[in-house]
Amino acid sequence: MSQQPSTTPYPIGTPGTPWGADEKTAWLARQQPRRSYAAEVVAPLESGLPAHVELFRYGVLDYERLGRGRFPLYAVRSRRWEADRPVVLVTGGVHGYETSGVQGALQWLARDSARHADGINLLMLPCISPWGYETINRWNPDALDPNRQFKAQSPAAESALAMACVAAHGGRVDLHVDLHETTDTDNSEFGPAKAARDGVAQDWHAIPDGFYLVGDTERPVPDFQRALIEAVRKVTHIAEPDEHGCIIGEPLQQPGVINYAKRALGLCGGMTGASFVTTTEVYPDSPSTSPAECNDAQAATIEAAIAFLRRA
Ligand SMILES: [Zn+2]
Repeated sequence: MSQQPSTTPYPIGTPGTPWGADEKTAWLARQQPRRSYAAEVVAPLESGLPAHVELFRYGVLDYERLGRGRFPLYAVRSRRWEADRPVVLVTGGVHGYETSGVQGALQWLARDSARHADGINLLMLPCISPWGYETINRWNPDALDPNRQFKAQSPAAESALAMACVAAHGGRVDLHVDLHETTDTDNSEFGPAKAARDGVAQDWHAIPDGFYLVGDTERPVPDFQRALIEAVRKVTHIAEPDEHGCIIGEPLQQPGVINYAKRALGLCGGMTGASFVTTTEVYPDSPSTSPAECNDAQAATIEAAIAFLRRA
């Protein structure tokens, strides 16, 4: 764990001065592909889908203007979309570097989703930020965090295209599970980059060792969050609060749960009117976990959330 703030200035820009176009260009030049969206995300979707769902393209992320290519955006939906069934939205890879958010969604889809084929309408966007997936990045090439841009006239195409995809399916969502990770690089790279970009001091918090959930301040549904934590606890360890009773600076609501004002912050989890909303935060850098366990924790959350919805 990185449990001390860095004292080294971020290598781009002048401390205290927000970035302009030149600094953003310099930042982008440092970002290079390190893995393949086509091989690790698109290929499994094209070859391994269960029969009850279909794959479709909901847009193209076009970064040709920055010399960064074009990425077809894929989603999966129930083949039979029935008006009397609840709608379940699963989103992953809003932060492309958060690997288990993408791979956990694909795993749940392949292994577990069929048992709900006749009970729900499923819409899954497993990798909202494919450029971020390839470059292991929190931001898009414009140095914007897509998970602060789920709002009208969004300047982030990742967010705008995802919102349009959800709207095109009628807009009704009953349950939304948004899959994320909290990583050591949040403190070593992405937090310092954000502070440098905005010309402010880093808002530093210790990274908790373990899984936690972020509910929505406007619709916290504590019974729902509790059921998910109890399910995930069987798969991986749950994060403990710090000495102030907080996780990443937010007061603990119950074991393993904090809340954010998702709509006001422009978070992915705030883009629907769903009654049941949660954001997972898996910690992949723990010495006592593994990539497989992180994927299992994501899948367990989706499974427990749908089970809760179908009982509700
Ligand atoms: Zn995230």
